[in-house]
Amino acid sequence: MTAQDVTRAVSVITTGDGEVHHEHVYGTRKPELWWIFFGRRWVRLPINVYVIEHRDGLVLFDTGQDRAVVTDPGYYPDPITAFFYRHIFRDIHIGPEDTLPVQLEGAGYSAGQVDKAVISHLHSDHVGGIADIPQADLYAGEKGFDYMRGPNHPERQTVYRDRIEIPGAKWHMIPFAPTDDPAVVPFTEAFDLMGDGSMIVLPTPGHLPGSVSMLVRRGAAPPLLLVGDLTYDEQLLDRDQVGAVGDPAQLRETYAKVRALRKHTPDLIILPAHDPDAAQKLDESAVAQAP
Ligand SMILES: [Zn+2]
Repeated sequence: MTAQDVTRAVSVITTGDGEVHHEHVYGTRKPELWWIFFGRRWVRLPINVYVIEHRDGLVLFDTGQDRAVVTDPGYYPDPITAFFYRHIFRDIHIGPEDTLPVQLEGAGYSAGQVDKAVISHLHSDHVGGIADIPQADLYAGEKGFDYMRGPNHPERQTVYRDRIEIPGAKWHMIPFAPTDDPAVVPFTEAFDLMGDGSMIVLPTPGHLPGSVSMLVRRGAAPPLLLVGDLTYDEQLLDRDQVGAVGDPAQLRETYAKVRALRKHTPDLIILPAHDPDAAQKLDESAVAQAP
């Protein structure tokens, strides 16, 4: 038994879906306010949560979108933010059956079983389930917290401090440490979440300060790289095409590191947080594992 055989199953659940501008996903040279208000092409994306069943407990990568965004008229912290977000997202569907607890039940687990959740970044569609898992240790990048607590209206970037620093939430800054693990070259810093090499968190900034990805190693099956919103589609990564949200230079720098990582792990499966094909990719790779 290798260290990675402790990863028993990986699945994906979806906490609803919604439409974003084409530019949001595929990038644009147009100014942000132009595409937000005048962009006419929309792309429907799911809001995924990855569920990793480990010998020592249940781990989530991201927690999805809070259903309150469609049920609570006071969801947005102020009217200007609400006005912006009516132009950035449209046609959001999050039914009662799409909440994190119901989705976890459908996958054979319960919200009360979750031990840890690694949050790729602090956007509202990634932290929306934290109130449902108060017992869980929550991990996010330190620079994300600095950004959330700083000026410059982070709430206009869907970072809502009041919904992140909720009473009782067991937040931890990810304690990145230098690594010489050949499996993560060219990354030089990492955090070994379970202490056994099965889930390695890596700093992948660009979409939002403090954004992280997680390498999941699972015995004989190909490893996974859960990348949050670094990219929406592996082909965009191959084409060096970055979305319109975030710092383009930093996104490209991180893209190059992820491509270099994939070069020495050719069977690596890259799974974005909004990948519509994630379930299929996990199914196919699980089949590949069978003798
Ligand atoms: Zn997202």
